[in-house]
Amino acid sequence: MPANIGISVSKDNENQMLALPANYVDAVREAGGVPWLLPTFAPGSVDEELVGLYVDRLDGLLLSGGPDLAPRYFGEEPHRDLGQVSPERDAIELLLARAALERDLPVLAICRGIQVLNVAAGGTLYQDVSSQVEGAIQHRQLAPRWHASHGVVVDNDSHVGRIFRTRESCLMVNSFHHQAVREPAPGFVISARSADDVVEAIEGTEHSFAIGVQWHPEMMVEHSTAMLAPFRALVAAAGRYHRRDDASC
Ligand code: MN
Repeated sequence: MPANIGISVSKDNENQMLALPANYVDAVREAGGVPWLLPTFAPGSVDEELVGLYVDRLDGLLLSGGPDLAPRYFGEEPHRDLGQVSPERDAIELLLARAALERDLPVLAICRGIQVLNVAAGGTLYQDVSSQVEGAIQHRQLAPRWHASHGVVVDNDSHVGRIFRTRESCLMVNSFHHQAVREPAPGFVISARSADDVVEAIEGTEHSFAIGVQWHPEMMVEHSTAMLAPFRALVAAAGRYHRRDDASC
């Protein structure tokens, strides 16, 4: 069952290197998928046609974590506490997300990815949770990357709830973000929140598999096999997408 999963990467401007934490690749592989890295390009040299050449070869898309999304994409000026942004990543990932949603290509979006997915589909973000959400808990943990630092209440009837199959509706997750989904995009619903009401997962209601999580399951896999579930679900959806493609030939 081919499941070619494209993974977006970061641009390290200082060293002119493309970079991706290896645990994304390992989680996709462990889930049975074939990981492919999707590069960023020089500003202005990426367009829908180029993105289409990549997306046409994929069975699934994984939008990885990284820096902040530029607020102009959801119609705001930069908040004083906006962090580092990556114009190269914004350019290609917003196009990748839109191309995937148009084709109903399965998408799993992690951390920065949930923000890209939401904005690509027309939603908005908090630029800085700690200053924009009253009573916000700590979402930038100082504990090790695999440590589950806060709880999220998951809607058990949601796609995300079925993937994680949580009893008691509460799932412990890690947290390395300071942006978060503010208004979910049209066609998307919230499927998990933390105790301070910050959105921790969204899903597309009009898509077979369009899921965003604010935490980093790929960092938790080594200590919690349950966190492999979203990667297994992505690979399974990618297999179905691939077969649907075959059937239409
Ligand atoms: Mn969090």
